Amino acid sequence: MLYGLIHVRYILTSKGMAAMLEKFKNYDFGRCPRVYCCGQPCLPVGQSDIPRSSTVKIYCPKCEDIYYPRSKYQGNVDGAYFGTTFPHLFLMTYGHLKLQKPSPRYTPRVFGFKIHNP
Ligand SMILES: [Zn+2]
Repeated sequence: MLYGLIHVRYILTSKGMAAMLEKFKNYDFGRCPRVYCCGQPCLPVGQSDIPRSSTVKIYCPKCEDIYYPRSKYQGNVDGAYFGTTFPHLFLMTYGHLKLQKPSPRYTPRVFGFKIHNP
């Protein structure tokens, strides 16, 4: 529990991010199960920052969706130990990892309007 709370803070530091980048490159967090994502490596994400509310999921930067991790070990880890911020801050930090989106895909809308990416 204490380790988890330290971990969630650590991975948001530049040192933690660099360590996570290595793991990401090694597919340590698993690949996206979606066919159109062609084995895209994923990042761990929590659905909540409150401990014991959900287990960790994997976030795919290509389809921008979350999935249950395939490994049972990962499936038992608390999502709050990674938090809701990590994969998104990670992709902002390492902007070159942001990928072209595959089609067909869901169109996100805010109040009925399509979101335009700059
Ligand atoms: Zn995907």
